[in-house]
Amino acid sequence: MELLNIKNLDLAGKKVFIRCDFNVPMDEFGNISDDRRIRSALATINYCIDQDCAVILASHSGRPDGKVIEKYSLAPVAKRLQQLLKRDVILAKDVVGEDAISKAKALKETEILLLENLRYEPGETENELELSEKLASMAEFYVNDAFGVSHRAHSSVEGITHLFDEEHKAAGFLLQKEIQFFGKLIQQPVRPFAAIVGGSKVSGKLEALVNLLPKVDKVLIGGGMAFTFLKQMGYNIGASLVEDDLLQDAQHIMDEARRLGVKFYLPVDVVAAERFAEDSVSKLVSAQEIPDNWMGLDIGPATVRLYREVLNDVQTVLWNGPMGVYEMEKFARGSNKIAHFVADSYATTVVGGGDTADLVQRIGLDEEMTFISTGGGASLELLEGKILPGVLPLIKKEEA
Ligand code: AMP
Repeated sequence: MELLNIKNLDLAGKKVFIRCDFNVPMDEFGNISDDRRIRSALATINYCIDQDCAVILASHSGRPDGKVIEKYSLAPVAKRLQQLLKRDVILAKDVVGEDAISKAKALKETEILLLENLRYEPGETENELELSEKLASMAEFYVNDAFGVSHRAHSSVEGITHLFDEEHKAAGFLLQKEIQFFGKLIQQPVRPFAAIVGGSKVSGKLEALVNLLPKVDKVLIGGGMAFTFLKQMGYNIGASLVEDDLLQDAQHIMDEARRLGVKFYLPVDVVAAERFAEDSVSKLVSAQEIPDNWMGLDIGPATVRLYREVLNDVQTVLWNGPMGVYEMEKFARGSNKIAHFVADSYATTVVGGGDTADLVQRIGLDEEMTFISTGGGASLELLEGKILPGVLPLIKKEEA
């Protein structure tokens, strides 16, 4: 699969609209805690600046649900971009309002304009044509470099691509790199291939789990999602996170794993706490002995040992989702220990998803992994063999 290449665009001196993914984690004071996604976009932005383009950048951040909510403003992103690019970045007051449109119109060669949070516009997530048209009207070229959101058919990701012909749209360097990497990974993963899947809920990764099963040899479950499986197995999970409406789906996944001969592992012990808080009383219990009203917030040491054993002979590891509430130090040990083990292995190690990338970076292991993807959901969908809606219109015509 060959994507339309940014290097084939006749960009010199023109206006280019770059859809980026600047949806970065921030702390309660609005400080960016991991700017990987911003740094990953620099190659494409710098390339366009080198071509003397006027650059219009657009991204979403969080889920303001179509409303203008101050805390989701891209102002901190504009500031960080400015530092990284060592150039002025003009922040528009809106997305396609008077301010953005007039600033885009007045933008000169090598100047950079960042639009406000795309999701301030209700039409963005609905793939509304009118919004796509307004965004497209700002520039002569469209470049998608937002891998993390390319699995969403949104106005600035999918709808807008239909308003540019093949000579006027392309994939940016980051998008190219991610698609190439996962293309190779899916075609011929070196086996055994293990997927470590964690995070809060089964619901977000249900389809991915089902579709991953035929591709992998082993699945290791952690995080909050483990408890829906454990409950379905008849264990008392106390007050742990659970999705009661997905118990049957959990059973289906376990049945499918058995049918396909995929080894499916669940935690055998957990760190249980009385409350969802750093200062809560906590204790180690077996997965079968979680006390009533206590909640499992991390995998325990026996699970860490088991998972290490299971990962010992693995040649490819895909990790998506933390093993526990890694944001609280007390419940970060399971994730940290797995991160160290994965980082030390000689396998091809692929980390996907904002949270998992964040946790790996917090403990300084990001350089040790083979590949850290900027997209969690997007990378899972790629591994399922799907062509992402934001990527499809950027495949070279004769191949699409
Ligand atoms: P996700 O966005 O689904 O990948 O989930 C990531 C979030 O899952 C992180 O913020 C973790 O704090 C949270 N998480 C992980 N393990 C647990 C758990 N046992 N209970 C509650 N939340 C969890």
